[in-house]
Amino acid sequence: MSPGPDGRIRIYACGPTVYARIHVGNARPFVVFSLLRRYLLHVGYDAVLVVNVTDINDKIYAAAQPAGTPSAELARQMTAAYVADTDGLGLGRPDHEPLASETIGEIVALIEVLIERGHAYEAAGDVYFSVSSYPDYGGLSHQRIEDMDQGEGPDEEALKRHPRDFALWKAQKPGEDTAWDAPWGRGRPGWHIECSAMAEKLLGVGFEIHGGGSDLVFPHHENEAAQTAAARGQPLVKVWMHNGMVRLDEGKMSKSTGNLFLLHEALAAYGRDALIMYFCAGHYRQPVDFDEGRLEEARAQVRRVRDAARRLVTGPSPEWSGPLRERFLAALAEDFNTPSALAAVFDWVREANRSDSPVGADDLREMLGVLALENLLEAPAGEAPAEVQELLRRREEARRAGDYARSDALRDELRARGWEVRDGPDGPELVPAE
Ligand SMILES: [Zn+2]
Repeated sequence: MSPGPDGRIRIYACGPTVYARIHVGNARPFVVFSLLRRYLLHVGYDAVLVVNVTDINDKIYAAAQPAGTPSAELARQMTAAYVADTDGLGLGRPDHEPLASETIGEIVALIEVLIERGHAYEAAGDVYFSVSSYPDYGGLSHQRIEDMDQGEGPDEEALKRHPRDFALWKAQKPGEDTAWDAPWGRGRPGWHIECSAMAEKLLGVGFEIHGGGSDLVFPHHENEAAQTAAARGQPLVKVWMHNGMVRLDEGKMSKSTGNLFLLHEALAAYGRDALIMYFCAGHYRQPVDFDEGRLEEARAQVRRVRDAARRLVTGPSPEWSGPLRERFLAALAEDFNTPSALAAVFDWVREANRSDSPVGADDLREMLGVLALENLLEAPAGEAPAEVQELLRRREEARRAGDYARSDALRDELRARGWEVRDGPDGPELVPAE
């Protein structure tokens, strides 16, 4: 990946359509592109991430009507819920999170250019993109034109000059409670033009990376690419990065936990650390099953890192760590291969566990930090810090060796640090001293 002329790597990822709480499938692009930005910043690029919010869309009208809620109100509520739910991932916010409803001026202006240049036409208050005016159409999804279905309704089909044309602007229909003024009359933008306009407003044209789920390749991204290139005479983006789908298989979730497919439910059930670990365990391009087994495995991996972290000391890592750190960074440089990077992390953990001398945590902290998992090195709330755990370990050693004077001295030292040792059925346990 080479940065743009100003040294930046500009990333636009398609965000959610806000008509309901988001599920773990919607969370995947948020995680993938937030981590990608984190990695690029880590290796010294000036990366900027835009994740839009689609707050004008047929799905929002369709969900708002039966609920008796104004569609703008539903979109507002679900945008707030989306922000709260994704905050639970602990990845920070993207640099910009534009709303379609705040980009109407730019959208109308872009449609005007397309009409002027002969790439779009008005029909009964709607505006359509003319696919035959743009010879490169289909270049992203490589579909045969006869296999293409824009997924639009019968009203739109009747107005199109060609069935492959798609809507840029839709005249207000009965039952639609939001509309904006445009030279073609009141109405609202189509979904695809919203993203072209939001991306250009914040990143310009010809930015570095456009992301989103693989289900968006056609028609959404094909149409975004066609609109921008036709209007501006240069490509929308240099590189497309599509993440694979999260397969939600109800049969693979246990009855006791229910089907925890909504992000906020999954966060409550498994914790953000296990969810981030779960997402990193799959290559972003591949589909991944969301099932109990994989989540349990992610939880076990989180525990493995936490357990190893208790025995680490602060400071530089030993010599054996260098090649593992290199392997970690090389994996991410190679098409952002997070599973391969994680394998380097677990090789590091295994090596540290084998070591007889104290191991400095610096390299592990760096690697975990790139994956937003550096908190695994901190003791969870209510748990004794690493050096206290280490005192307990030495007390156990002394006890097993029959050195009771030393074991008592270590118990006193623990008490002086505010921790009491309780010998329970699962071995000694540290509790905060009264
Ligand atoms: Zn989009």
